[in-house]
Amino acid sequence: MQKVIQVNNQKLKQMAHYYSQFSSKKVPTGALFSISSGSATVTGYYSGKVMFQGKTASAEAAKWQSNSIHSLDTPKKMGTTLPADFANWSVLGSDEVGAGAYFGPLTTAAVYVSQENLEWVRALGIADSKTLTDDRMKKIAPQIIAKLPHHVVNLMPEKYNQLQPLHNVNQMKAISHNFSLGKVLDKIFPITPQAILIDQFAQQSTYFNYLKNAKQQRIIHENVYFTTKGEQYHLSVAAASILARVVELDAMSKLSVEAGIKLPIGAGREVDTVAAELLRRGIDLKHYAKLHFANTKKAERLL
Ligand code: MN
Repeated sequence: MQKVIQVNNQKLKQMAHYYSQFSSKKVPTGALFSISSGSATVTGYYSGKVMFQGKTASAEAAKWQSNSIHSLDTPKKMGTTLPADFANWSVLGSDEVGAGAYFGPLTTAAVYVSQENLEWVRALGIADSKTLTDDRMKKIAPQIIAKLPHHVVNLMPEKYNQLQPLHNVNQMKAISHNFSLGKVLDKIFPITPQAILIDQFAQQSTYFNYLKNAKQQRIIHENVYFTTKGEQYHLSVAAASILARVVELDAMSKLSVEAGIKLPIGAGREVDTVAAELLRRGIDLKHYAKLHFANTKKAERLL
């Protein structure tokens, strides 16, 4: 793999300084430095051209591209542009569903899609994952499960209600993403993805603070990128989104059977009506619903 980027003089010096920690190679004519980091060779020319070669060329180059969220001089914001060609990288992606739904779990999935599997995933027709019907997703999810390394954290309401007073919803999401990502990294080891893409729900610094404050033993941070609408930037996030949705739907049907009434998705008025009906039957909502939602009080008022 080879990647060439163009930098200004100041950045070139910054790079020469940074790479001076690695072992130097024979410096070609016109070049300021040439080093080997083990998995990549980096050569910086006085013209401002910097050439990256080897297995991690793209990832290494991405550190220095000004639109990269790993750039050393650009602060990260929500929805920051990803490196060019990112869609063709081997990426571990994650997404969650259910945070806005009163009934059912908060479900987070992580899926690894290597470059070799990109075509196969593309053929599933999931690029527009947000427009797929539930039935279509139910057909696709088993194929994702059978073929791609993945992990799902399915936080059912009872557990959710125990954790919720201690961790806000975004902190629970952060813990779930981080845990799922770690599980998939273990499954694919010794392979490491070129990048990890988290469908963004919080600022990057906030995300990592949530994990630190929750005293997570292992915090996945290397090559982690964040963007909103992540499913549009890499198929791994689209696949994770579908997997999470299907696990959520499955949990919803099981809970509906237990409750003896179809539990609706979302947090609208229909949800209040059904919750009120469960209360009338003397059923404890903590097994079925995220109790801190305003729907709980609304349902009580309907009695
Ligand atoms: Mn999302």
